[in-house]
Amino acid sequence: MSKQICNPLTKYHHGKFPKQKQAAPALQCEMDPIPDCGEKTYQGHGRLEGRKMLVTGGDSGIGRAAAIAYAKEGADVAINYLPYEQKDAEDVAKVIEAVGRKAVLIPGDLSDEAFCKKLVEQAHQKLGGLDNLTLVAGKQTAVEDIMELTTEQIKKTFEINVFSLFWVTKAALGYLKPGSTIITTSSVQAYQPSGNLLDYAATKTAIIAFTRGLANQLSSKGIRVNCVAPGPVWTPLQICGGQPSEVIPEFGKQTPLQRAGQPVELAGVYVHLASEESSYTTAETYGVTGGMHIN
Ligand code: NAD
Ligand code: MG
Repeated sequence: MSKQICNPLTKYHHGKFPKQKQAAPALQCEMDPIPDCGEKTYQGHGRLEGRKMLVTGGDSGIGRAAAIAYAKEGADVAINYLPYEQKDAEDVAKVIEAVGRKAVLIPGDLSDEAFCKKLVEQAHQKLGGLDNLTLVAGKQTAVEDIMELTTEQIKKTFEINVFSLFWVTKAALGYLKPGSTIITTSSVQAYQPSGNLLDYAATKTAIIAFTRGLANQLSSKGIRVNCVAPGPVWTPLQICGGQPSEVIPEFGKQTPLQRAGQPVELAGVYVHLASEESSYTTAETYGVTGGMHIN
């Protein structure tokens, strides 16, 4: 991407999206258009030199953009994802290794507490330390009518989106030193919940409370905890049941910036919250929403 000043309305894809649907979890490499996760467009400036980061959901979408940006800023990165997403994860590893950083791939299911523990142990061991948790993985499945919303789905959404934050954090705390950071991922849905995302929106509000409470608890240890709240972003999550497929062509058009965001447009915020630049920021939620309000 050139350094020229760009019109945000037209900087990235702003036409209709082709109708598409994949089974969950979708593969980013099969999307049309492929989301921009900063593979070519993110420019690092050494802001995370030598850091050791663990990114959940790091194979695709927003987590992938964070993982790539971290590597370009000088960090070694472990990423977690589901085994089905191996191809996307390997593509991320290639980008990380191409900029001379270490990529550690740890597939597994975050709705399993024992795996969450194993994930942190492996990340710490293979990276030779741990300075940051970037918790991006999430499940979103639209259901129009609460009467159709199964207990199984409600439990899974909470396990992946909320419980895993407790499990991963508990496993990691023994390793995190003063100066370490934790970054969670909520949504504009925490503030403006859609009628067809009841379980998902409730988890995203829970993540805000978790972030603020944990920030209060960990402040005396010198560990900062912050949250990113995205608006509509073009990622696999949306085309595998996150939205009804008929609304995909117009996805993001309702925002003041009149288009969906691209994952790379969130990368700088994750980098900021992980870096020394944000040393006086904790318990904060940072919206990247195309202009939708988060209060
Ligand atoms: P994405 O599909 O690229 O990322 C979600 C990731 O979650 C998947 O890649 C998968 O690896 C991971 N995941 C799902 N279930 C898992 C499980 N059981 N175990 C381990 N990993 C699992 O989509 P994304 O949009 O980049 O989503 C990232 C985060 O951003 C999510 O928390 C989502 O709620 C949030 N978010 C997205 C949007 C958006 O419009 N795309 C808007 C607001 C918030
Ligand atoms: Mg994925």
